[in-house]
Amino acid sequence: MKRISGLLLWMVFAVNAANAWALQDKADIIYIGGDIVTMNDVQPAAEAVAVKDGKILSVGKKADILALKDSSTKIVDLGGRTMLPGFIDAHSHLTMAFIYLQAANVSPVPIGTVTDIPSLKNIIKDFIAKNKVPKGEWVLAWGYDNSALKENRHITCEDLDPVTPDNPTVVVHCSAHGAVINSLALAQWGITDKTPTPPGGTIGRFPGTNRPNGLLMEAAWLPCEGKLPRPSPDKLLGMIPQAQQLYAQNGYTTAAEGATGYDDYKLLFAAAQKGLLYLDIRSLPVYWDLDKFDADKSVVFGKDYNHLKLAGVKFLIDGSPQGLTALMSKPYLVQGPNGEANWHGLQSVTTDDFNKLVKKVVDRGIPVYTHCNGDASIDIVIAGLKAAGVTASQDRRDVVVHSQFMRPEQLDEYVKLGVFPSFFTNHAFYWGDTHIRNFGKDRAFFLSPMKSAKAKGIRFSNHTDFLVTPLNPMMPLWTAVARRSKSGVIVGPNERIGVMDSLKALTINGAYQYHEENIKGSIEPGKLADFVILDRNPLKVKTGDLKGLKVTETIKESRMVYKLN
Ligand SMILES: [Zn+2]
Repeated sequence: MKRISGLLLWMVFAVNAANAWALQDKADIIYIGGDIVTMNDVQPAAEAVAVKDGKILSVGKKADILALKDSSTKIVDLGGRTMLPGFIDAHSHLTMAFIYLQAANVSPVPIGTVTDIPSLKNIIKDFIAKNKVPKGEWVLAWGYDNSALKENRHITCEDLDPVTPDNPTVVVHCSAHGAVINSLALAQWGITDKTPTPPGGTIGRFPGTNRPNGLLMEAAWLPCEGKLPRPSPDKLLGMIPQAQQLYAQNGYTTAAEGATGYDDYKLLFAAAQKGLLYLDIRSLPVYWDLDKFDADKSVVFGKDYNHLKLAGVKFLIDGSPQGLTALMSKPYLVQGPNGEANWHGLQSVTTDDFNKLVKKVVDRGIPVYTHCNGDASIDIVIAGLKAAGVTASQDRRDVVVHSQFMRPEQLDEYVKLGVFPSFFTNHAFYWGDTHIRNFGKDRAFFLSPMKSAKAKGIRFSNHTDFLVTPLNPMMPLWTAVARRSKSGVIVGPNERIGVMDSLKALTINGAYQYHEENIKGSIEPGKLADFVILDRNPLKVKTGDLKGLKVTETIKESRMVYKLN
């Protein structure tokens, strides 16, 4: 007992000495004049923040922080706005932005303007005319969502051909797990009535025939995606600052590249070498390119190099629920994409291959990231991690991205394995009504079960999966709290969480996911000066107003990287 109090005394002395030392340090910048939401449970709110050398020097009362001012200190008045730690993007696709931001936007209302097949066709026709796309050049459109079309069916090559007579055309599904292509594209990629449907994939056929109708999903689509024409490496490198700006505009100081092929890695590495990265990029090499990554000496997992870090290895286990390709233990209530009865979805990798590869990744101490939407795909991951000897005590934080349609007992397996779910509550809004139709209320209401996860002590992040849904973090902030569908149904009232927990899923828990909670995710002394400034305080607005909050400024390590004009 005596020894403990001696130790305590020494600790008190040490802490005071550290504070006294810190107080002698003068601030480069001091922020005052607005709410400061720290996301630090010990000190949730503050009046002022002092910053020095790109790091947070001190957080607290205005009078104490202003004592750190000298003649060169810049005072920033927040003017009643609200400061939070910079948003941490748990999962999106930074490099997909290069290709798709230059494509025609055929997203449905409210992301885009498509309501039916004629409106979709008009957008593509106008895109070709407006951009004077030369004959023979590929045309790309993204955001296509069959479930939101008035006709309630997939488009086919016969819909596309009249508006794209001279250009091979690819209309990418909003899940990014499939596309509908026109007849010229079918011909160029050699997809004919003799082409067998690959395991884990779908090639749509016209009824009663073998003739492809242009729909390609999952394993039938992924190899084609790699064949899409790509801008030159120089052009892509030139687009890196622009792509990061999209994230900065949305308040992210850490951006995700959630499934990185080797070519994309080389591009990001070149950008890091040239000092072009001004946000932290967290990249996940895809498992099918792992041999290429391993042969490259520049590849180091888990270390930051000029803002680029490889955070884990990414596996795709299944598809998407809105594309009817999420792998489910119980069948869908509707037919499969090709009219299949008793449809369970698609598995993207064989269980054997997954188990072998996961063991290797686990043995190397690298976090495993898996894309899983359906409960049957989550079963595969749980079994694979168990067989590889994973336990919670290892603190590996293997991430199941989406964890969308779970069964309640799978949360207990997450606890045992220390698995970290990155949920995707935007589904409640964008596809909540579709999911109720396809899966029934019980399964749909348990999508991204944040409240149940929290009750079991599971930490989680939330994400946009951009380009699947828009990058705006106010949408996941709102959808986790409201879970309101487009038609107004509360998709799982029992799984709604509070605003503070929803904010954590976009900040400190994202940092935890990347093993970076000691340097990011909250406003605490010693952490990086990564901030976002919002027009209003999310903790003080009505639930319905959360989605309308605006990012007015983004600051990365003291440097302003975005300001709303
Ligand atoms: Zn994704």
